[in-house]
Amino acid sequence: MGEHVGPDAFRVQELTIQHKGGTFAAFVRMVTEIIAPLRAFFETTKHHYTKFNYLGEWHSHHSFMLAPSNQDHATMYNIVMDPQLGAHFVVLLLVKLGDRGQLEGSVTVYQPNKGVFAGSIVQERSTKTMSKYEISA
Ligand SMILES: [Zn+2]
Repeated sequence: MGEHVGPDAFRVQELTIQHKGGTFAAFVRMVTEIIAPLRAFFETTKHHYTKFNYLGEWHSHHSFMLAPSNQDHATMYNIVMDPQLGAHFVVLLLVKLGDRGQLEGSVTVYQPNKGVFAGSIVQERSTKTMSKYEISA
């Protein structure tokens, strides 16, 4: 979930962490588990949807390249093409720890009926403690 901070720029404000539903090599998205955190985010941001909204999905590619898999592409297209969601775009953020423990990431942007393109990431120094939602069994 993020804030629109400038032309084509968004700041990640909150994220959810899903502790089940995946394997070593596959991520299984559990939609029902994001609803409560999403509602809370919209309450906190006073339903100002043009400024604060759902941005997309993230997961780690801890043992793989920071490129979306075919399953990742399929999942993200299903999300962006979902008429109930009505998104103009969604992003997929992939992260991993580098050799020296640094956070590395990639962003892929999906739009309805269009090809994907790579976004860029700017790591900011945090000025506040991030809220986080633990989702576990
Ligand atoms: Zn993936």
